[in-house]
Amino acid sequence: MIVLKFGGSSVGTADSIRKVMNCILQNSENGSVVLLSAVSGTTDKLIEAVNLSVSNLSQSLNIIENLQIYHQNILYELTNNQTNSYFKIIDSYFDEIYEKVNAFNILGEITQQNYDSIVFYGEFLSTAILYIYSRFLKYDFSLIDSRDFIKTNSEFTKASVDFENSSLEFKKNKDIFTQKSIIIAQGFIASDLRGKTSTLGRGGSDYSATVFGLLLKENGINISEIQIWTDVSGIYSADPRIIENAFIIETITNSEIRILSYLGAKVLHPHTITPAYLAKIPIRVLNTFKPEESGTLIDMSDNKKQATINSIIQIENCCQIKINNNVNNSCFDIEQKLLKLSLQTDLKPLYSSLTENYLLLILQKYSDLIFDIEEHKHIEYLEINCIAIVGYDIMKFINQILEIAKEFNLNFLGNSENCIFLSTKNKLSNIEFNNLHNRIFSNNK
Ligand code: ASP
Ligand code: MG
Repeated sequence: MIVLKFGGSSVGTADSIRKVMNCILQNSENGSVVLLSAVSGTTDKLIEAVNLSVSNLSQSLNIIENLQIYHQNILYELTNNQTNSYFKIIDSYFDEIYEKVNAFNILGEITQQNYDSIVFYGEFLSTAILYIYSRFLKYDFSLIDSRDFIKTNSEFTKASVDFENSSLEFKKNKDIFTQKSIIIAQGFIASDLRGKTSTLGRGGSDYSATVFGLLLKENGINISEIQIWTDVSGIYSADPRIIENAFIIETITNSEIRILSYLGAKVLHPHTITPAYLAKIPIRVLNTFKPEESGTLIDMSDNKKQATINSIIQIENCCQIKINNNVNNSCFDIEQKLLKLSLQTDLKPLYSSLTENYLLLILQKYSDLIFDIEEHKHIEYLEINCIAIVGYDIMKFINQILEIAKEFNLNFLGNSENCIFLSTKNKLSNIEFNNLHNRIFSNNK
């Protein structure tokens, strides 16, 4: 069995839903669980409707009406305008949305729980449409409610999965998954222990897919792959909007993906890897609109692989803090203070290293650093721009990378197992960054 997840743009129009259906049929020989995001833009619109429910009810209702028309039109197109009875399902969800938004207006305030109680309809609608379409085509798919399976705490709008209780729900309903059929379920949505609807945070459907994979496997169902279907052909070596020759990575390790998402690359929802890694289920990132391409495989095994350089990312607005050890031996105090500060503020630690002479910290800052540097004269503080080169066992390439760094006037900051950090004073222009990308991958691709 496999788990397939389709993002919002894959279910954005009737035409793309037809493509989704093809991808499902081509890939589900041994049964599958198909998770969907909401139709693209729907979650944003539902949030906007909730925001306006108190201050501007008519505008809020207007947004919902437009969403209703949009969803109805998709269904019309998919079913050749023949299926009036199917419309009742979609319209009944919208009736509930109207009713709730009116109630928020009367109450005059909105809670986080209220957001989830509306936002989940996005995924409910997209899965209902796919289910209706499958019936229209005379396929025997099943539709389940993910809220009956994924249990969370009550931190509405960004709830944490309660794996123990979720696993119990999977165990209770295991039969549904053992029939080698195709099961449609919603990404992103869940419920708390009292049964109230919760969601896993924006973009959380990727995470739902790996959570499903883990919980199914835990309950004895063999999941051979988790497929994340999107509108690009896999994970790129660099941001393709900037780097002209960015290429699709064929295989990448889970630790590289973890680094990349930590460093801010838009690869997958940040929590996604962990459940798949725990369950040792590979993830494949694929393109709904070019299903013949093989995409990117994220390898979860810990087996030694051949060293590779896979990607490069530029991280702006960083600072380098060097604390001399020989002036004063309070450098650990300062490190502690800085790391504490990074928890309290929007500083993100990227790298640190300790030598006998100094402690080096590289932090990304999203606003001005309010650390009193003057107070600590033995601190060297420098604003920098970081370049991270990520690959498996990347130190095998250190000589080659240092040589290139010299050509581009980049300083070597340090490395971890799968990442080499370089720096420049100023951000590399797009042309320079393109040149750097091409130079790094000229021998490796
Ligand atoms: N529909 C949700 C969102 O837009 C979840 C997802 O797309 O993954 O955030
Ligand atoms: Mg979405």
